[in-house]
Amino acid sequence: MQTGFYRGRSRPVTTTTVSGSPNRIIGQALTGDVEDSLERVRAEVVACGKCPRLVRYRDRVASEKKREFREGEYWGRGVPGFGDPAARLVVVGLAPAAHGSNRTGRVFTGDRSAAFLVRAFHAAGFANQPTSLRRNDGLRYRDLYLTAAVRCAPPGNQPLPGERTNCAPYLERELRLLTNARAILALGGYAWDAVRATAAVVYDVPRPTTPFGHGACAPLGPGRPWLWGAYHPSPQNTNTGKLTPPMLVELLERIRAGFEVRPLPGPHP
Ligand code: SF4
Repeated sequence: MQTGFYRGRSRPVTTTTVSGSPNRIIGQALTGDVEDSLERVRAEVVACGKCPRLVRYRDRVASEKKREFREGEYWGRGVPGFGDPAARLVVVGLAPAAHGSNRTGRVFTGDRSAAFLVRAFHAAGFANQPTSLRRNDGLRYRDLYLTAAVRCAPPGNQPLPGERTNCAPYLERELRLLTNARAILALGGYAWDAVRATAAVVYDVPRPTTPFGHGACAPLGPGRPWLWGAYHPSPQNTNTGKLTPPMLVELLERIRAGFEVRPLPGPHP
């Protein structure tokens, strides 16, 4: 395990993994005899089939495959969040890419958006390596938890409103469980809107009205995390120079600097 990349807190890298049978974990949740956990959220996301259109699409992509990946297995299920359960920074993307995380099974893994994003995380000291190629490639996040507004790949990267509504409880539960969160960074306008709505519920505050932009910032109130916006690291944005590596690294460092000057949030409802 490498820890030398990290700045800030001195605690070693930690991360969480899916373990145990999803059916067993979900069974326990349904009987109400265990507390909620990130592990349970992950197991439920992986087993989820609430959106028929997305289930059909993720299955079709996984069986047809892209030519360059035809020799490998596709994940073809809901993609859970990944990272440090004690994270102060929660990063929220839009949804899995058809041949990115829908193929690899880990959020922002195996495509050009992931390559751009994780290089920036590494440069800013949140990741132990600059690449995100596949599950079990050794990537660890420290002080950062990465998730998405919608957990199944949507056609054209466009979830329907009802699909976002179906998936919102997973983000809500993650935010409730990530009790060290000091900042929530939304990647793109879609995630910004999803986080505004979910954060209002989780932290019991009015929905922020700040418009989305790169570097947009909305404090959620005393003792609550700050909401930040960044352009999505899609090839459409990164190939055109709308989002550059220095822009994203500078923003990540600015967010981290805020941890040092603002008091820790208290427990939220
Ligand atoms: S998008 Fe979310 S709610 Fe819909 S099937 Fe996937 S995991 Fe379930």
